[in-house]
Order: sequence, then C-alpha cells, then structure tokens
Amino acid sequence: MLIGVPKEIKNHEYRIGLTPAGAKEFVQQGHRVIVEHDGGLAIGFDDAQYLAAGAEIVNTAAEVFERAEMIIKVKEPQPGECRMLSPGQLLFTYLHLAPDPEQTRLLLESGATAIAYETVTSDDAGLPLLAPMSEVAGRMAIQAGAHNLEKAQGGNGMLLGGVPGVEPAKVLVIGGGVVGINAARMAMGLGADVTILDKSLERLKELDMIFGGRMKTVYSTADAVERHALEADLVVGAVLIPGAAAPKLISRELVSRMKAGSVMVDVAIDQGGCFETSRATTHQEPTYVVDGVVHYCVANMPGGVARTSTMALTNASMPYALKLANKGVADALRDDRHLRNGLNVHAGMITHEAVAEALDYEF
Ligand code: NAD
Repeated sequence: MLIGVPKEIKNHEYRIGLTPAGAKEFVQQGHRVIVEHDGGLAIGFDDAQYLAAGAEIVNTAAEVFERAEMIIKVKEPQPGECRMLSPGQLLFTYLHLAPDPEQTRLLLESGATAIAYETVTSDDAGLPLLAPMSEVAGRMAIQAGAHNLEKAQGGNGMLLGGVPGVEPAKVLVIGGGVVGINAARMAMGLGADVTILDKSLERLKELDMIFGGRMKTVYSTADAVERHALEADLVVGAVLIPGAAAPKLISRELVSRMKAGSVMVDVAIDQGGCFETSRATTHQEPTYVVDGVVHYCVANMPGGVARTSTMALTNASMPYALKLANKGVADALRDDRHLRNGLNVHAGMITHEAVAEALDYEF
C-alpha cells in the first residue's frame, strides 16, 4: 500500500502521524511511504531520517493526497485537506466529528473512508488511541502545576516535594482514570502528599493495590471534594463521564475559599472543564487567576510536548495502521471489531452510530 503523511497544518500543531521508525516498519513490510517535506522537522524528525528509513519526500501536501492510498495524520483534516481526499482513499487520524458538522459534511462529500483514532476500542472497554494522550496530559498536569506554584507565576511558593524538615505540598487529583493515575504517579515521584478521588470503588481498589497506601484514595462526594480542595496546594481535574460534558465539581464559591496561590489544572477542559471557573486556554497563555487561585486550562496539553506525544501516539497507532496496510481496509475491518469501531465515514455515509446520532444523520 502507498502510505502518505502530510505535514500538520492546524495552528501550533507540531506532531506528525508517522515517525521515521514507523516509516521504516512500513517499508520493511513491503509498503511505500511518502512524507511531506519538513513534516516532522519541528520535533527533530528531518527529511534525511525519513529518507534513511526508505520513505520518499514530496514537496506538497497536494502530492501526498493525490498519490497515497492511506493518509496518516494526527489532527482532524482541515477544510482544504478534506477537499483533497478522494473516493476509496483511507484517512486514519483523530476526527472528533460529533461537534464538527462542517468537517463531517466535507468528509462525506469526499467519498473517502475515515477511521477515527478516538473511537477505536479495546477488550478492556478502553480507547487505546486516546489513552496515550491522557498519559501525557496527566504527567504534564503535575509539571504545569509545580511550575505555577512558584511565586513568580502567581503561586503560593510551595515546592511539591518539600525538603527534609519541611512538609510537601498537598496535591488533590479528582478522577483516577488514565489522566489521574499518571498525575498521581508524577506527584508521588516528586514527593508530594497525594490524595485521589474517584466515583468508582472498583477503580479506588485498583489504585490502592497499585500504590499500596503511598497515596490516599477517597470516594468522591461533594463533601470530599470540598474538604480536600480547601487543603490543597494543587488540584488536578481529571474526571470523565464518557459522552457527556464534565460535571462541575468545584464551584466558583468554593474557589473563593481555597488557599491563595493554590493552583488548579483542569485537564478535563476539553470536555468543558470540571471547575466552574475554568475556561480553555492555550500554550501561549496557559493561565489566569480567579480569586487568587491560578487556573491552568490548556485544551491541547499533549501538543506542548509534541515529540513525546508523537512517539506515544504512533506507538499505539502503528499496529492498527500496519494491519490496515497488510490486510487491506476491508479485511482488516472485518477481522477486528475494535478497529471497525473506529470507522466513522465510508463512501458518503456515516458509519458510527454515536457520531450519526450526535449530528442528526440517519444511521
Ligand atoms: P478516564 O475515563 O480514564 O478516567 C476518568 C475517571 O473519572 C474515571 O475513573 C471515573 O470513574 C472518574 N470520575 C467520573 N466522575 C467522577 C466524579 N464525580 N468524581 C471523581 N471521579 C469521577 O478518562 P481520562 O483518559 O483520564 O481523561 C480524563 C479527562 O481528561 C477527559 O475529559 C479527557 O478528555 C481529558 N483529556 C484532556 C487532555 C488535554 O489536553 N486537556 C488530554 C487528554 C485527556
């Protein structure tokens, strides 16, 4: 199969759909890879590395879209990219179609087949192509929190781990899923005093087994959130109710009673945020202050560490991409129901029930 990798064109997007190592894998398995000139340069993957892997470099995205049978990307296609897709071509990338009627219309008009990373499933009911970005965001949440606790950033001047003779900062993680466990692990690694809240007793049991009492697990109630938030130096919002907007677990009134200079990192901001005072921010201007509490609400945290994120994403996406190339789209989808769950659009039709429902299309 001829695999095409265009350079990402969304504002401040530096990730790329395939690394040189990934390109080599395709070539070794008998496929051809074309990569747009400088597609990975911003994160240290230059054209020479793709050439050494056996890929071909082309000058324009148009050439990639014109020639490739499968296009591998990171972000949803922008309108110009959608218009370059053609019937029978396969697009493998994040799509997030439900809130995006324009992209949906353009993909339907293209006649192409589109598999969305975010709806590919796994046996344990997880989303294996979303999980790597949650791992990155969870770990970054502590990095961002620690930085913003510094006085110069508006924080209260607490060092997360303290030092011998001085107690550590208190970190509250709300939601013990993929983001939450990664945040908790980083915070513990830095020596902070960590409490994690979750609504799922099953999950709290798992966390307790994993961390063996090195952090506190607490069942999430409004009362628990309030008590722990009032004591916390850093709060990480990491809840998810699949398919729904994030519940507002910390009210504006509660924020007004929190410690001055404490920091709130709302990772759930891409689902609307779990603090009433949250509004989406960018890597260029990541924070703002409400009632003395620093808020960090970057909607696209993994983009800030685009090199690590690219490698984490492609580690997860490569097995599926190889399966599609080796078996062909029809057989790969027939043989793997989890990959089939990723199919969102095919030949002018929406093929994913939840996406069709969200957009009011017939299914
Ligand atoms: P997950 O499903 O693995 O975990 C969510 C956890 O929240 C679950 O354990 C669930 O039981 C728990 N939960 C639900 N309601 C709760 C409540 N009221 N109190 C406490 N816990 C509750 O999800 P995840 O992969 O960890 O993602 C968490 C959020 O982070 C999602 O909104 C996701 O979209 C977001 N995210 C954001 C970024 C970013 O860049 N901002 C990146 C990755 C993920």
